[in-house]
Amino acid sequence: MWNNKSLNLQYFTKKEFVMGKINVFNKMNPTFLLQLDELRGLVDEPLTVKSSYRDKKYNKKVGGSVESKHMESIAVDLHCDNGTLRGKIVHHALNLGMSVGVSGNFIHVDSRDKQILFTY
Ligand SMILES: [Zn+2]
Repeated sequence: MWNNKSLNLQYFTKKEFVMGKINVFNKMNPTFLLQLDELRGLVDEPLTVKSSYRDKKYNKKVGGSVESKHMESIAVDLHCDNGTLRGKIVHHALNLGMSVGVSGNFIHVDSRDKQILFTY
């Protein structure tokens, strides 16, 4: 758990990071949050966080992978259901060195060590 209160994010706000009804902003890795904020700036369009930090129990409940990066505080799923925005997010996330998972209505981004691009 970090104290992200002093983190200087340009776009994302604390209330956007929830696990069910629990706010998990302080569970997010601050380095990842800064990278995510940078991604938001490059995409230059509003991005909606659908999922962020998950504990093991919650991850199981929502059908997450047993090795999900959401449990390591370095992943989010961003709502996306159109091709133009999808292209922009994937392009900029990969350029930033993030790993990307593409689904029909969301894009997963994380900051694991070895970069990958995957589908669901
Ligand atoms: Zn995800």
